[in-house]
Amino acid sequence: MPIQVETLSLLNAVQALALGLMLWAGTHGDNGPALAAIRLRALALGIEAAGYGLLALQAFIPPAALLMGGNALNLLAQGMVVVAIRMLLGKPLRLKSATLIAVVGWAGVAWFGIVDPDYRLRVLWGSLAIAGNVLLNIDALRSGCRDSGTRARCVLLWVYLLAMALVVWRNGALWLSGNPPDQVATPSPINVFYVLLSGMQPLFASIGFLLLYNEILRRELHELARIDPLTGVANRRAMGEASDRMLDEARAWRGSVGVLLVDADHFKNVNDRFGHDGGDKVLQSLVACIQSILRADDIVGRVGGEEFLVLSPGVDAEGVLALGERIRSTVEREVLQIDGETLRLTVSIGTAVAGPGQWDMPLLRRQADAALYAAKRAGRNQVVAGAEVAA
Ligand code: GH3
Ligand code: MG
Ligand code: MG
Repeated sequence: MPIQVETLSLLNAVQALALGLMLWAGTHGDNGPALAAIRLRALALGIEAAGYGLLALQAFIPPAALLMGGNALNLLAQGMVVVAIRMLLGKPLRLKSATLIAVVGWAGVAWFGIVDPDYRLRVLWGSLAIAGNVLLNIDALRSGCRDSGTRARCVLLWVYLLAMALVVWRNGALWLSGNPPDQVATPSPINVFYVLLSGMQPLFASIGFLLLYNEILRRELHELARIDPLTGVANRRAMGEASDRMLDEARAWRGSVGVLLVDADHFKNVNDRFGHDGGDKVLQSLVACIQSILRADDIVGRVGGEEFLVLSPGVDAEGVLALGERIRSTVEREVLQIDGETLRLTVSIGTAVAGPGQWDMPLLRRQADAALYAAKRAGRNQVVAGAEVAA
């Protein structure tokens, strides 16, 4: 079946242009690094389309202009894709590396295209530039690829691994061929196959890019839905999930988990004195104070207006009281500065311990709650153990 490189290139150009316009139109007017990354990807598609457009019109363009123009556009588009993927992933953009690859790649193609013409060396040089860009993309995508939450990242990684395989195949085929073509527009099977597959790459890479964007957005939403916006710690929902996880682990190891309910004393008075915004700042300081005491494995979450749950794995009945006392005394000592005024806050704490024979989180929460209530009744600013209240 006779397929012309020009016809393929025209199809590739139209497809890349349409994709680029869709991505651009679909994200226009919004802000944020992720959408900026998509728009950069859209621009890269437009530039790729222009590159294929030149190849489609090769009959009307002087060969040197086609060579230098086409390669400049391709290398520019590849560099932009490198930056766009890294913008999306929040990784260093590697602007210098991408620029260096583009300049060295372009200079080498000029050398082997115009100064000392050799098609196979020219393709090899250009391929090294493509490989450099693909390697930058693979490097950005490979981390965390085994994780089930990063499937889209793996899909895009595979697109670039296949792009690399195509480049290797093209060079191998050119060097092994007894009758290699002398330019990319020559209608040889190697050229047709290469232009066909490399022309499909923008489509697959763009779909992979959008899947990656979707995956990142989903993860952000998942995290946002589990973070308390005022204090930045886990919310009630996240604490529910964390306690299930922690209790399962502790049960498997026959360990224990300390459960502490921390409630600010007389917080209404704080709001009365400093207003709701001042009260919010106090809550943020209180969380920072609690966090300063916790170990890496401990978790604090906001489970009520001015009520916090602390989970501390590997802590027994004695340890949980000691931890509660450390939190209580640290908060008591802290002098808070709110709107130029000083405030001393105290907290009351109820505790419970999950351990062998006691893994029911709702019951543990009720025990800690009863202990907290007892601490309030006993005059506040104290720590009471749940078991004591139950007994
Ligand atoms: P105590 O716990 O010592 O019995 O007294 P309290 O005054 O702290 O008790 P209560 O639970 O009755 O009141 C809690 C107050 O916390 C009431 C509510 O306005 C305030 N509050 C709840 N959520 C927020 C918040 O997000 N920001 C601010 N500023 N205040 C909050
Ligand atoms: Mg309170
Ligand atoms: Mg309360």
